Amino acid sequence: MSNPLTQIANILLRKHESDKPGPSLDAILASTDKHLANFDELIQPSPLSRPRTPFDSGLPASEMTMATLPLKDKLKVIPRAIPLMLNMQIGARMYDGKFDPIETEASPQFIEEFEAMARELGAKDIGYVKVPDYAIFEGKGLPCEYAIVFTVEMEKEPLESAPSFDCQLEVMDGYKRMAHISKKLAKHLRKAGYDGYPGTALGGITDYPLLAELAGLGAIGYHGLLISPGEGARLRINTIYTNITNLPTIEATGEKNKHLWVRDFCAMCKKCIRQCPVDAIYDEPVPRGDNGGMQTIDHATCRDYFTRNFGCGVCLVVCPFSQASYEKVHAKFKGNPDAPQFRIPVISIDDINVVPQG
Ligand code: SF4
Ligand code: SF4
Repeated sequence: MSNPLTQIANILLRKHESDKPGPSLDAILASTDKHLANFDELIQPSPLSRPRTPFDSGLPASEMTMATLPLKDKLKVIPRAIPLMLNMQIGARMYDGKFDPIETEASPQFIEEFEAMARELGAKDIGYVKVPDYAIFEGKGLPCEYAIVFTVEMEKEPLESAPSFDCQLEVMDGYKRMAHISKKLAKHLRKAGYDGYPGTALGGITDYPLLAELAGLGAIGYHGLLISPGEGARLRINTIYTNITNLPTIEATGEKNKHLWVRDFCAMCKKCIRQCPVDAIYDEPVPRGDNGGMQTIDHATCRDYFTRNFGCGVCLVVCPFSQASYEKVHAKFKGNPDAPQFRIPVISIDDINVVPQG
């Protein structure tokens, strides 16, 4: 299998035969996943874990906006795609040959300096979580127990025109920045003696929105995206996996995720559901398997439209939290006791690690 750089070069530079399936982002992710094979042992997913949502729609290349860009647009993609793929590749190689950490605990000063460095590199919000096994995707495995979760902000203006090439460029820019940040931070952790494995920016071995919610950075809205106080849904999420055992997770600090009211607001709002061009968002989230989580999106329907229309993004843009400030929405919200409740996040990880018998 070719590496991510070759894959992206294929997508951008090759002339795609219109009647054959278009280029594959899932193949890019598979080429980064394969580095996990270097580990004798990985933390295993729960039997309740779900598979990673595939990107590929199987549509012919002629119907994929990414594969049929005019040259002038391809030239705009290249400065984002090449660093993204390069950093993803460097990050993936950090999974080759197990790193032997010499430290397991970090001082408050180290955490403070780490966060300052992350912000300097462009991270917006930073949180910490002990990764529950149900957040590891089916068939994957994790080298470390803990995740440092961070977000990057996407600018409002280019997103406003979604679905559009400008919006897609901004999304790619977010991925590019995340790949750079996670690689740098993982290297920084290793230099200090800790394990540090960057999560794949495009989508990795764990469920990033779920980890971000568990880390207390926001709440997952009915569009399936994280909503945070600073950026609404105008953000992307990435992780660094580490062995630092005393990270200030919300559990360790005795706090609870204070953003979960957002889902009660969603149950009244439903704007993304009304405005999704292909009705791909369920009118009410449905329970996802037996693990107490929720499923909000009909992925197959979303994926086809997404692939034909610059990665869509309409649900992200129309969300009131992406338009007005979180505080303003919160101040006007009077509560919604009738809203359906989903067990996200599960505050006690032990609750969910129980494997059903029989
Ligand atoms: S990305 Fe577009 S198609 Fe997919 S759920 Fe959102 S609005 Fe609907
Ligand atoms: S548009 Fe409304 S329903 Fe959809 S995620 Fe945003 S707040 Fe929730």
